[in-house]
Amino acid sequence: MKTHKGPVVGYNVQIAVDAKHNLIAEQQVHDNVTDIGQLAQTAVAARENLAVERIDAVADKGYYTIGDIEACEAAGVTPYVPKPIRSPSKRKGFFPKSGFQYDVTTDTYACPSGHCLRPAYFHDLPGGIRIQYANRDACRSCSLRPRCTTDTHRRISRYANEIVMDRMAERLAAKPDLLDHRRESVEHPFGTIKQWMGQGTFLTRRLSNVRGEFSLTALAYNMRRAINLVGVPALVAAVST
Ligand code: SF4
Repeated sequence: MKTHKGPVVGYNVQIAVDAKHNLIAEQQVHDNVTDIGQLAQTAVAARENLAVERIDAVADKGYYTIGDIEACEAAGVTPYVPKPIRSPSKRKGFFPKSGFQYDVTTDTYACPSGHCLRPAYFHDLPGGIRIQYANRDACRSCSLRPRCTTDTHRRISRYANEIVMDRMAERLAAKPDLLDHRRESVEHPFGTIKQWMGQGTFLTRRLSNVRGEFSLTALAYNMRRAINLVGVPALVAAVST
């Protein structure tokens, strides 16, 4: 892995766990340091392995990126990823973005003083078009400006396709227990593999070798889990049909 401290021998294992049976529905091994950008390819592969039209995919905030969420929605995966708390404005003592209310019907933000911020600046970035909303005239004479910005006016950024994140936030708000359930589901295979199967570290090195090794590990875990769930006779009968 290429870390900020230089290259290290390490691997990033991604698994999709079936929440009902705790079986591994998909596994992948990468050498990316972060989980950003890994959700769609793992979740979509899991959906295909399960041979279903749609699945829900719950992941932690390390997977929160707009391109991945959009790709999931387009491929039959309904994502649930909590938004990480990243608020440089709040750290500086300014109103956070959450203090500005977005109105989808007018495509405007209402700021803390009740003024309307409209699309003003457009940036074509790798993640999509980023729009900055502003109201220069209102900020110029606003008594709240010291709590808002050191600039002449405040800008609020939003991606043109950010509606997918708004939809996801609404889904998450409607199912507050989902994230706890995710933790329990994903810990089951990792805990079993490390504690009960005695595999705390990889035996092999190099990405292709580790991919092969973990593929066998996941297979062994799933066989063991299936035996626990249905027993050997039922498993043998299912495999032989
Ligand atoms: S400074 Fe501008 S954006 Fe901030 S509260 Fe005042 S009018 Fe609204």
